[in-house]
Amino acid sequence: MKQDHTRSETIYGVDRWGKGLITVLPNGDVALCDPARDSATPISLPDILQDLEQRGIASPLVLRVSSFLEHEIRNINESFASAIKRVGYQAPYRGVFPIKVNQQAQVVDRIVEFGRPFNYGLEAGSKPELVIALAHRLAKDALIVCNGVKDAEFIRLAILSRRLGFNTVIVLESPKEAETVIEVTRELGIDPLLGVRVKLTNQIGGKWQESSGDRSTFGMNTDQLLRVVDRLKDEGLLHCLQLQHSHLGSQVPDVNDVRRAAAEACRYFVELTREGAPLTHLDLGGGLGIDYTGEKRAAENSINYTVEEYCANVVETVAYAMDEAELAHPILVTESGRAVAATSSMLIFDVLETTLYDAPDAPDVQPDDHHLVADLAAISGYLEAGRVQECWNDASFYRDELRALFRRGYVDLRQMARAERIYLSLTARIKALVAASDEVNEMGEHLEKVADVYHCNFSLFQSLPDVWAIDQLHPIVPLQMLNQVPDRRAVLSDITCDSDGKVDQFILADGISPSLPVHSLPEEGRYYLGVFFVGAYQETLGDLHNLFGDTNVVTIDLRADGGFDLLHEQEGDTISQVLSYVEYDPADCVAAFRKMVDEAISSGAVKASDRKILIGAYRDSINGYTYYE
Ligand SMILES: *Cc1c(COP(=O)(O)O)cnc(C)c1O
Repeated sequence: MKQDHTRSETIYGVDRWGKGLITVLPNGDVALCDPARDSATPISLPDILQDLEQRGIASPLVLRVSSFLEHEIRNINESFASAIKRVGYQAPYRGVFPIKVNQQAQVVDRIVEFGRPFNYGLEAGSKPELVIALAHRLAKDALIVCNGVKDAEFIRLAILSRRLGFNTVIVLESPKEAETVIEVTRELGIDPLLGVRVKLTNQIGGKWQESSGDRSTFGMNTDQLLRVVDRLKDEGLLHCLQLQHSHLGSQVPDVNDVRRAAAEACRYFVELTREGAPLTHLDLGGGLGIDYTGEKRAAENSINYTVEEYCANVVETVAYAMDEAELAHPILVTESGRAVAATSSMLIFDVLETTLYDAPDAPDVQPDDHHLVADLAAISGYLEAGRVQECWNDASFYRDELRALFRRGYVDLRQMARAERIYLSLTARIKALVAASDEVNEMGEHLEKVADVYHCNFSLFQSLPDVWAIDQLHPIVPLQMLNQVPDRRAVLSDITCDSDGKVDQFILADGISPSLPVHSLPEEGRYYLGVFFVGAYQETLGDLHNLFGDTNVVTIDLRADGGFDLLHEQEGDTISQVLSYVEYDPADCVAAFRKMVDEAISSGAVKASDRKILIGAYRDSINGYTYYE
């Protein structure tokens, strides 16, 4: 096989989307780079997997790299700090992490720890998320921002938490919510910290266009805002209104949308201040995107800016607007979730088997085969680079005719099998001819339809729900053999029994492709694939389709010497656990099975000595991993 290191890297575009975190080693392994230490040796992912396997931790698994999480938190905080310094902005940045983006304790705990030097806080969009936030010791000046629909209980807890020194801000989403806050405040006799959520009229591009502008679900229009301000004034509570919030929607592709939204938010800020609201915090929500494809352009799975540019744009825009209005610079708050969490997790699974839509050789035509079988076989004699399309047309025609004859009983099963195999061997040669030519034509499209299917040990519905639901793209690459030219193209199929459980859109260096270049499976060892940047939104949105549960999750830290420390292991769901999620009592299941075994023994259908084997098999299964072991 050809050894060509550079070629594989160019195919997958690892250097384009890898953000300096993911790279390819000369031996063809995909490796992790410690972002804090340029000089550190990149760590081979297949080596990490081998090590984990020796420790008894199997794939499929989610690998969380805490060094990446630390890097992203440092990056956004330091980028804001340096923009603030450069622009001469007169107030600090106080970011919050929106818990909904990844609620897992191992993630939130580390975000709080890494964020402490930056007064980094948390955003809660529901009661359970507020309960999570209040279980953490945050830095003294860190904020907890409460968004979303709130009842009296939610508001009561938020206000009471101020007694413990939490800076918990209740962001009012509607005039009705303001009334509930007024009631609870009266009852408790404690002043709340309040915010108002403004509905901006600017619409953004990208997938979350609908969540911006007039028709967005959240936030108040001008009329509602003034009603709330007037009510707070009436109740003598306007002095509590300190924060203005707006949120553009996620993954904003175009930095100019960020700028326009910030400018519009400033207009509200200035006007509300003129109405007497003593606003001190301007919260611009989330939306900072990830360049999943590495294209660096304003497209659905890409962005046309860096974190540094995002921060610079926000700081400059707000500074300009406030100077113009002669107002003090407010404390800047953003709620970036995706940009903080996405890169720190990857999903890793191996290929279980393959269905190939071609064959290496063709059987001989038998003397009494139908003449169309011979015609099909004869194509091989004139198949050459210049006649690929013609041969493809001929082959498809003869095969379809033979299938029709088979259905009517004129061709038997053995003849049909020979014809299919001849067809598949022609496909193999056509694929090779097309791959070797630089010409781009329709043949490429035809061949996508006969790409291999690589059956992989994971559930799309559990582990990559956004890929299924909203066509999210993540970089996907084989984790080994990238020093060898991939000789096949495949779509990936998961192990659910659902035809939707497949991945057929891939990020390659030259664009989005309906198939992924892969290698023939090695004779020995596993063939791993990695799905990158899955740390945002995927874990909790996943579902139990076919009762595939949570995968194993491993948190590691990269060491400077090219090794890693295992910080935490969360074992994936057992079958018994997923059964209990769907109202079964696993003990009852065992009892019911045992009863059937005993009845079968009584009736003589099963030997008493087989009882242990039968019940043992059932028990082993119920205690096992839901994935292929
Ligand atoms: C979801 C959400 C966020 C996070 O958005 P990202 O695009 O992930 O940064 C921030 N704020 C609010 C109010 C949200 O609903």
